[in-house]
Amino acid sequence: MRSVWLQDFSWQEIESFRDAGRGPILIPVGSVEQHGMHLPLGTDSMVAISLAEEAAKRSNAIVTPPLWFGWSPHHLALPGTISIRAEMLIEVMFDIVKSLATHGFTGFVVINGHRMVNIPWLQISAERAQRELDVRMAIFDPSYMSKELADELGFGEIGHAEEIETSHMLHVMPHLVRMDRARNHGPEETLHYHIDPRSSRDTLCYVPTTAKRLKEVSRVSGGTGGRPKLASSEKGKRLHEHLVDRLVEVIHEFQRKA
Ligand SMILES: [Zn+2]
Repeated sequence: MRSVWLQDFSWQEIESFRDAGRGPILIPVGSVEQHGMHLPLGTDSMVAISLAEEAAKRSNAIVTPPLWFGWSPHHLALPGTISIRAEMLIEVMFDIVKSLATHGFTGFVVINGHRMVNIPWLQISAERAQRELDVRMAIFDPSYMSKELADELGFGEIGHAEEIETSHMLHVMPHLVRMDRARNHGPEETLHYHIDPRSSRDTLCYVPTTAKRLKEVSRVSGGTGGRPKLASSEKGKRLHEHLVDRLVEVIHEFQRKA
C-alpha cells in the first residue's frame, strides 16, 4: 500500500477504493493548545494522527487530512493556542463527512486526541450526520479506550500534559518532548466534576477551567495538570500499541458490517 492518506491519492484512486469497498474513513481530530512547557502545542493532534495512520496501515482504512484545531478557549491564556468555536467544530466535521458521503463512503471513525473537551461537539456532529446522511459513525477516544491499561500502568488521574500524554508523546514524537522542562502540578481537587473516565465521581457537570484561572495557575504549573515526570517511553509504547489494537478492532467491526 503506497499510503493511507486520502490527500496522497488521485480522485480516480479514491473512486476505485470506494468501488472495492475499502474503508472505513478515519478522521483524526486534535487541538493546537498549550501542553505545559515540555510538550508541543500539537500534542493532541499528533496523538490522533499517529493512531489513525498505524491502524489504517493494518486494516485497509483510509485517513483524511487531520483536523488540527479543536475547542480550547480555556487554554488561550498561554501563547500559541488556537481555538475554534464549538459550533465551527460541529459544522466542519459534518461537512467533511457530507463530502465523502456524497462520493459513496458510508463508514466513518473519528479519532479524538483532544479528550473530553472535543467530545460533546463531535457527538452532536456525528449524530446529525447519521440522521441526515445515512452514514455510520464512531468516535474513538484514547482515554475511554484505555481505561484498564491505564490502571495497569499505574497512571494517575487524567489532567493535562500529565504522564499519560507525556508517555504517549515520548513514544510517538520523542524529539519534540523536553523532559528537562517537565513540571508536576496537581491535579487539583474539584468538587463537582472529574474528567477521568475511570473515576466513579460525577462527570456530568463538566466545566473547563477559564483562561483567567489558567493564567493564574500557570505561573506555578507552567500549564501542566498532573505528573509528567512519571512518564516513560515504555509506558507510552504499551499505551500506543494497545490503542492501535483497539482501533483496528473498531475498524474490523465496521468492515464486517459494511
Ligand atoms: Zn492534550
